[in-house]
Amino acid sequence: MNSGDLLIPSPIRELTDIAFEKAAVKVFLKRDDLIHSEVSGNKWRKLKYNLTGLTGEKPGTVITFGGAYSNHLAALASLGYMEGVRTIGIVRGDELTPLSSPTLRHCAARGMELCFVSRSEYREKEHGALASSLLDQTPDALIIPEGGTNRLALKGVGEIPDECADAGFSPDFYVVPAGTGGTTAGLLLRGCAVVSVAVLKNAGFLREDIGRWASTGLLDLQLDYHFGGYGRYNRELIDFIARFEAQHGVPIEQVYTGKMFYGLYDLIKRGYFAKGTTLMAVHTGGLQGKLER
Ligand SMILES: *Cc1c(COP(=O)(O)O)cnc(C)c1O
Repeated sequence: MNSGDLLIPSPIRELTDIAFEKAAVKVFLKRDDLIHSEVSGNKWRKLKYNLTGLTGEKPGTVITFGGAYSNHLAALASLGYMEGVRTIGIVRGDELTPLSSPTLRHCAARGMELCFVSRSEYREKEHGALASSLLDQTPDALIIPEGGTNRLALKGVGEIPDECADAGFSPDFYVVPAGTGGTTAGLLLRGCAVVSVAVLKNAGFLREDIGRWASTGLLDLQLDYHFGGYGRYNRELIDFIARFEAQHGVPIEQVYTGKMFYGLYDLIKRGYFAKGTTLMAVHTGGLQGKLER
């Protein structure tokens, strides 16, 4: 990967707040959002080995799936462009066009070929007729599931604790937002303890999904900070984000990192963590999906 454009290892800084002092916990932030200007931090980590191959043999084509606002699609389009790998995005919604969202416009501008499919066709995804006909046409293609979680993704995420250790940090807990739970699983697979804040409603199923990927580490899945479901938010969350940004000078957004930090603050204020606990929150990025205000 063209490392000249990448900020790796991503920087770590301490966040300070009266609430943290009162609870006698230390909170650090790993700024994976700074890794690349276009690519969400955790999407870079998850896609890295998929695009470069473990031993340097790149796939000819990468096919993946997503909705009109998918950070994963946007990240794959950018990385494919940087690496000279052809990318195909299968997009949910046959009424859409490359102009339907800023994300899709970005994907098209980075040369991703977009296929718009109906919701029923999309449900078939990897196993559907479209994917198999695309694979027939491009036998060298790698298919990455929606959300980007696979073995190579876990390996990429697993480099986070290495970077922390190299910088002298061995936190008691990592804190991450969870969509598919792949980022969480990558850390667990390395034996980490992880507070994972689900951004979708009724996300108890993530425990099983994550368990399929990783049976090591210690998972603390938080299910109460979804704000009504994936992509949903309210005034309280938006106000929290504005206060957080003003206080810490770090941009966050309403889909993932806003919910993670809201949850983290709430847990700390409720005395959830033992005195002396050290927490490493990972800023997974996602700023391309931030609300315009
Ligand atoms: C996709 C995404 C996540 C979710 O990651 P999972 O590995 O699917 O749990 C979290 N944060 C941001 C910013 C994302 O774009």
